Amino acid sequence: MKARDRLRIAMQKSGRLTEPALDLLNRCGLSFRQSRDKLFCFGEGEPVDLLLVRDDDIPGLIAQGVCDLGIVGRNVLGEFQLTAGREAEPLAELRPLGFGRCRLSIAVPQELDYHEPQQLEGRRIATSYPGLLGEWLRTHGVNAGVVTLTGSVEIAPKLGTADAICDLVQSGGTLVANQLREADVLLESEAVLAGPLTLPVDERGDMLELLLKRLDGVIQVRESRLLLLQTSRHTLEAVTRLLPGGPQPTLLAVAGQPDQLMLQALCAGEVSWRQLEEIKKAGAREMFVLPVEKMLA
Ligand code: ATP
Ligand code: MG
Repeated sequence: MKARDRLRIAMQKSGRLTEPALDLLNRCGLSFRQSRDKLFCFGEGEPVDLLLVRDDDIPGLIAQGVCDLGIVGRNVLGEFQLTAGREAEPLAELRPLGFGRCRLSIAVPQELDYHEPQQLEGRRIATSYPGLLGEWLRTHGVNAGVVTLTGSVEIAPKLGTADAICDLVQSGGTLVANQLREADVLLESEAVLAGPLTLPVDERGDMLELLLKRLDGVIQVRESRLLLLQTSRHTLEAVTRLLPGGPQPTLLAVAGQPDQLMLQALCAGEVSWRQLEEIKKAGAREMFVLPVEKMLA
């Protein structure tokens, strides 16, 4: 078989991860010509193509070498690692991507006073994640029946087919609507970039490395804010002490005002109103918080 020289990324065809994944790839300078059947998207500019599939198929496609990378929930990747069998190629979580956040949790009927996993002994738990649930139950030494369902897990207790469920939770709204409540968290999940444990050492490998560097830049920028403010020299220390994270600030002189300084600081994350108010109290004024568009260290 002829080796591919273009990188192939698998992502969800239609669902919660589709829009943010495409947006992220666009920010990394990748754009795609949508093909008519929408399964395969040819990459314009860079030698990177997309395969649009169901999210459950993504880890398998990487393990089989059909795709080099995939954007998929940690929950789906973790379940694959536990259930794919020994002969399947083990995969790696190359980067957390910061979207599609949710939890894989145990939920129980609202009236049950849950305080430890041992209360699930002998009960039936419905889930689409038998691998992750099984592992969690083993870790806690609990013997429970695992009822595997592919959808609508949350109605199983009402139907009498299970006593509790193990499912993805984001806001908890679905649980409340079904008289359930979140009792224990098995896994904090988000979309991740998945790939093989050993990266290819050819042109695809070079492109992959370049993509990872761009991705790191995009992720860092998405979380960074540039804080600009003015302060007098005698309040500088108090103001600097309150700055949220990041490297040392840059100080600039203010023309005609020898006692005044302009401070510029890159902050790793949101700067809240409360933080700004505290910094202002310490002596800062003329404060601006700006988003950062691109960054190349
Ligand atoms: P597909 O047709 O591709 O199989 P799906 O129905 O399995 O789609 P979605 O519901 O689109 O998948 O969810 C995709 C991923 O989004 C999940 O695997 C999970 O990682 C993440 N996610 C974030 N919040 C939630 C949520 N509240 N419920 C379900 N998944 C969520
Ligand atoms: Mg799915």
